[in-house]
Amino acid sequence: MPFDPKLASKLNEPLDELLRRAFGFASFRANQEAVCRAAIDGRDVLLVMPTGAGKSLCYQLPAIAREGTTLVISPLIALMEDQASKLEALGFSVARIHSGMDRAASREACVAYLNGLLQFLFIAPERFRVPGFAEMLAKRKPGLVAIDEAHCISQWGHDFRPDYRTLGQHLPALRPAPIIALTATATPIVQDDIVKQLALRDATRFIHGFRRDNLAVEVVEVAKSRRARFAGEVLSDPARRPAIVYAPTRKDAESLAAELSAVFPAAAYHAGLEPAVRERVQRAFLEGRLEAVVATIAFGMGIDKADVRTVIHTALPGSLEAFYQEIGRAGRDGKQSRTVMMYSYADKRTHEFFLERDYPPAPELDRICRKLQAGSQHVEQLRESLCAGKNSMDPDVFAKALEKLLVHGGASMDYSEEVTLGHNSWRDAYAAQTVRRREQADLVIRFAESRQCRMGALVRHFGDVKEARTPCGHCDFCAPAECVAQRFREPSDQEKNALQDVVKALRGGVSKSTGKLHKELFPGDEMGRTQFEELLAGAVSAGVLVLENTEFDKEGKSIPYKKVSLTREGELFDVRTMGGMQLKDLSESVSKSARAKPRKDKRKNSNIAWRTGRPERSSSAPQQDLAANRATHAEPPVRIDSASKRAVTNSMDAYTAPEAAELEDKLRVWRLAEAKQYGVPAFCIMGNSTMRELALERPRTMDALIAVKGIGEAKAEKFGAAICRICAE
Ligand code: ADP
Ligand code: MG
Repeated sequence: MPFDPKLASKLNEPLDELLRRAFGFASFRANQEAVCRAAIDGRDVLLVMPTGAGKSLCYQLPAIAREGTTLVISPLIALMEDQASKLEALGFSVARIHSGMDRAASREACVAYLNGLLQFLFIAPERFRVPGFAEMLAKRKPGLVAIDEAHCISQWGHDFRPDYRTLGQHLPALRPAPIIALTATATPIVQDDIVKQLALRDATRFIHGFRRDNLAVEVVEVAKSRRARFAGEVLSDPARRPAIVYAPTRKDAESLAAELSAVFPAAAYHAGLEPAVRERVQRAFLEGRLEAVVATIAFGMGIDKADVRTVIHTALPGSLEAFYQEIGRAGRDGKQSRTVMMYSYADKRTHEFFLERDYPPAPELDRICRKLQAGSQHVEQLRESLCAGKNSMDPDVFAKALEKLLVHGGASMDYSEEVTLGHNSWRDAYAAQTVRRREQADLVIRFAESRQCRMGALVRHFGDVKEARTPCGHCDFCAPAECVAQRFREPSDQEKNALQDVVKALRGGVSKSTGKLHKELFPGDEMGRTQFEELLAGAVSAGVLVLENTEFDKEGKSIPYKKVSLTREGELFDVRTMGGMQLKDLSESVSKSARAKPRKDKRKNSNIAWRTGRPERSSSAPQQDLAANRATHAEPPVRIDSASKRAVTNSMDAYTAPEAAELEDKLRVWRLAEAKQYGVPAFCIMGNSTMRELALERPRTMDALIAVKGIGEAKAEKFGAAICRICAE
């Protein structure tokens, strides 16, 4: 029986009764009832619960229990349509106003609202830019205002939407309705910002449920060139599908989707596709016709698909909030699911690249401000005047720079896209935002490199210290043998001896920095630092050692380092049994990337291995896998000779290229100094990809320098001597 809107709010009806009658749910999920009560009582609420926890009900049930229309502000049309049509199907009276609708339909929705015929009105935030819209809404006071995906309000959040920022201005006119802000992703700093921006009054905060016991979070170090194949291998087992794969760029999404679709139905999804295509992909995935979607971050907001078995990241996500949000799309049905994040040393560089791209230097923003000093301009005119002719600005830089000005009030744009100069105080806010973004990126790297329970680390990040204490039992730290995207092996004799020495050095409550310990035990680098760190990590997983991330102060800068000490069991450690210790199998991936030498063939190679149905590792049988792996490693670990090391280095994204990384850092310092001298942003001196090429090729002569991709004659003439000198150091 469809729900009759006239029966909406029965006097004194118990909430669980209303839940059953109106929404068809047998009982409340954890925390839902308390949140509903707060909103029904007219209190402002900030609700932070993970994706899939059932936040929508927390505004929908109060909407019915209270009188009047509930306004729902929602940032994505797809999201809005999804929720609105579900409510319609339940029999509620619902309307929406967004840019995908024609004028007549929007007007009709407004009239219905003003006549009090609606229980829910969904609104896209940019509507508030239309003059008079907020005033129209205020003519009939709503019963409740719900702001979904509220983290978009905060510039500290990962999905900031300038249109959301201005919402706060319009809310006072809609009072006395209570406001409920909902989000799946808000660290304590974002929570505070949401409360402040929306001017929530004495808001009750509900922060719950970040621990996901059915997710096995795995982080694996894989060279970029091998990630497509890795993703293919993981997903070659049908039990690991449906799957969402996150790729860093549109191009990556396209090519990986093409590769995967040779094996099972898969498609790309990104902001560059026509809306109709995106819509089709989304629907096909929801209906099970597609088994994998390879997406950039644009996908998945509000996608309600319960049986996603695997989420893969083929590059480091921009923040832990984004990461948590994205992996949260796996296993909403409560069944065991897995998430695999791939990263390598080279991802740090990619992060740097995205940061530079998305946060243009302040002088670029200044250029826009100077143009606007003469008076306001249409955005197209502004773009043309800046992006054409001599000294023109890159259109992408223009777009990002303008966006940042709008965000921080350095400029404003009205509904007809006329841009006006704003106030001058954007500088500090922008600088702070850039620093914050960098910190977020660093946190992801630290997370990837840390050796501790993954779920514990994530839950702690969201401020739930209590929940973080119990290990999850599934992640690559807690259950290495269950990993699908990496192999583990028994330690070699050399490693056993080394561990013996480590234990000896730390006995009696000693703690040391890992770098110092390495130097003491291997003064001639007899065991490489990476291998040593993995050995320590294995011993941490086995409960022998503890690692602590800490920092020391050097000339006013804090330098992070890792301190290692023995656990109580470690004090009694017996090297003959090794306590069943397993180490990450590094030699496997190093030797492979060393072999996959010719760069242009790599993708093809990686394709074939799993396309032909001969994945080298049977990912469906981890136990067997491990046994086979042990057998392989009865031999001594593969030593990397200098020729293959060079090949690894040449592959650009291999993770063992410390010399290249060191050189790249030196070049960066040099570039920064040049940029300062010329008064231009660093990327104007030299792009990141050229820097990386230089670091890998290490040219010491002008001829060698010119041969490097990205170095033209002009650059060689201007900077050649300095670069060759640095490379020869
Ligand atoms: P969120 O917004 O937190 O990501 P949703 O509100 O979209 O999550 O809810 C996720 C799913 O859970 C939806 O399919 C919804 O119908 C379902 N759900 C919500 N509350 C309950 C409940 N009390 N009992 C059963 N299913 C529920
Ligand atoms: Mg939601």
